[in-house]
Amino acid sequence: MDFKKNYINGEWVASHSNATRDIINPFNQEIIATVTESDETDTKAAINAAREAFDSGKWAATPATERGHIVHIIAELIERDKEELAKLESLDTGKTVEESRGDMEDIAGVFRYYAQLADKNGGEIIDSPIPNTISKVVHEPVGVCGQITPWNYPLLQASWKLAPALVAGNTLIMKPSEITPLTTVKVFELMEEAGVPSGVINLILGPGESVGAELSANEEVDLISFTGGIATGKKIMQAASANVKNIALELGGKNPNIIFADADFDTAVDQALNAVYFHAGQICSAGTRLIVEETIHDKFIEKLVQRVENIKLGSGFDKNTQMGPLISEEHLNKVIHYVETGKQEGATVAVGGKRPNNPALQQGFFYLPTVLTNCTTEMHVVQEEGFGPVITVETFQTEAEAITLANDSIYGLSGGVWTNDIAKAERCVAKMRMGTVWINEFNLYFPHAPWGGFKQSGIGRELGKAGLEEYQETKHIFQNLKPEAMNWF
Ligand code: NAD
Repeated sequence: MDFKKNYINGEWVASHSNATRDIINPFNQEIIATVTESDETDTKAAINAAREAFDSGKWAATPATERGHIVHIIAELIERDKEELAKLESLDTGKTVEESRGDMEDIAGVFRYYAQLADKNGGEIIDSPIPNTISKVVHEPVGVCGQITPWNYPLLQASWKLAPALVAGNTLIMKPSEITPLTTVKVFELMEEAGVPSGVINLILGPGESVGAELSANEEVDLISFTGGIATGKKIMQAASANVKNIALELGGKNPNIIFADADFDTAVDQALNAVYFHAGQICSAGTRLIVEETIHDKFIEKLVQRVENIKLGSGFDKNTQMGPLISEEHLNKVIHYVETGKQEGATVAVGGKRPNNPALQQGFFYLPTVLTNCTTEMHVVQEEGFGPVITVETFQTEAEAITLANDSIYGLSGGVWTNDIAKAERCVAKMRMGTVWINEFNLYFPHAPWGGFKQSGIGRELGKAGLEEYQETKHIFQNLKPEAMNWF
């Protein structure tokens, strides 16, 4: 079994303490890899490497077309190794290989998208109101970027940060989740193979409390980009204030999925399942708050429950499996506690609500796909992000009521509306306070469109042109072609 190390200044190095961490397969708790475990000292070394590389100017001064070319090669290498990467992602996260294959296609697409933006990023001349002057705006890299990612979509989330940071000419230090670092390590190998110069990309493996906290607070880091939970996001924001870092936060969601009675019934039921149960509900944009028009509630839930009962749990490597395990024992216990709280608050378990009995699944961190009915907006299960395979169901009578329920959250990441009345859909989306809103769809995204949250779901945007702008400073250059003395003083 390989021993995975940090990548600092173009070298693969173990942590200074030689501490290690075992990486566990959530399906059977087997150790699948051992990785180096870093601390603040290793993190500072990685930051110094990124600082020196940035200050040397070697990457920012590389022509944008050449940076784009290298990022394009990274996409090709991911495409070449996508099967290996998909299997590694499934081994590490428990999700089905089919889902991971989709992720790898998306990831290659993200690198490709940003590669083609590299040379379309030039400055712009603006109309100066002052005669005989030239006024132009140019985009420059922010500098040294700290990038911290979560465990649910390890490589996908990494790609949203790596590709735009490189295209914009920054240097970076990435810290993947300590429990799912394997595909990120592999992509650093591919980025090295693609020819990214040493010091420009640095990888540091270790826990959030030491490595992540150092990246967030260290004054040599100019920007911190974080994807993860809201509590961690708040700590990072506080730490980042030490040197007024640029911050980009992609936090959680508690996303409403509104079903009107006039929606295409079977499609809406089918997509309500897709909205939540991929990757066992461990998706920031999962449509976990189902808000159903009262007149169709019973029929809708009956059909939904029938479909949920047939979801096949198992190993992500079994082609019949539709849903894998949760990521860890700690997370499983959180989901159990979350559902138990819901029951105590008066929610009814329509299906699921416990671990499966199947003896073959006992070593894995499995939880049954669950639907909780009779939910009301003040319940914890309706307000808190459970991050498991759990749908809560609320009902409404009027359009206004549906929107009030949908917006009754500290989060604002995403939401969906199902109706065949397009005017009604447009009225709803105009009032929904979320970064992404789908009409007759859920969870779809692509690299060309921005992704991010309103309210406490975050600050800033990833993907799209906005995702590149996160990694750029804007400079105004003003030139006087006929300078004259003013003689004011
Ligand atoms: P988490 O906040 O526990 O951890 C995320 C990362 O932060 C990990 O790498 C962790 O090591 C690090 N970290 C922990 N403490 C830290 C600290 N004090 N300082 C700096 N870094 C620290 O989140 P998680 O459990 O890994 O991921 C699940 C969360 O991520 C969910 O809330 C989910 O909604 C969110 N998420 C959001 C998006 C999005 O696009 N908005 C995408 C994926 C996941």
